[in-house]
Amino acid sequence: MGTTKLKTFLDWALKKAGNFETSEIPEDMLLQELLSRYEATKIPPCRICGGKLSVRRCGGGEPTVYACSPNMYDEKDNPILKPGRNGSVDKHYRDSEFIDYKHGGDSLVIELIDRYRKTKSLM
Ligand SMILES: [Zn+2]
Repeated sequence: MGTTKLKTFLDWALKKAGNFETSEIPEDMLLQELLSRYEATKIPPCRICGGKLSVRRCGGGEPTVYACSPNMYDEKDNPILKPGRNGSVDKHYRDSEFIDYKHGGDSLVIELIDRYRKTKSLM
C-alpha cells in the first residue's frame, strides 16, 4: 500500500473514531490519536486490591467488562475464595469494574500506522 492510500485510510479511521476534520490536525497528533484509540487495551489491576481482573461480560458487540472475581485458583486449578470475599457479586466485584470500549484495540490499524511511518521516513 502506498503512502497516499495509507493516509486516506488513516483519515478514514480517525474520522470514524472521532468525527472531526483531519485536515486541521498536524500529522503527528493524528497518528498519536489513532495509536491511543486502536492500540491493544491494557487491563489495569483491580483498583481496590491490586489483583488481576477477569472478564465479567463480553460479546454481542458490547464493550468487554472486567471485574475482580471473588475466586482465585489453587495449584490444581480449583476455584477458591479470595480472603474477605463471599463468592457472590459483591461490592468489591462491582466497584472494581473496568470497561474496555476499544474491544481490545485493532492490531491492523497499529500495523498500518507503523508502515506509514516507515514509508514516510524513506521519502
Ligand atoms: Zn480486587
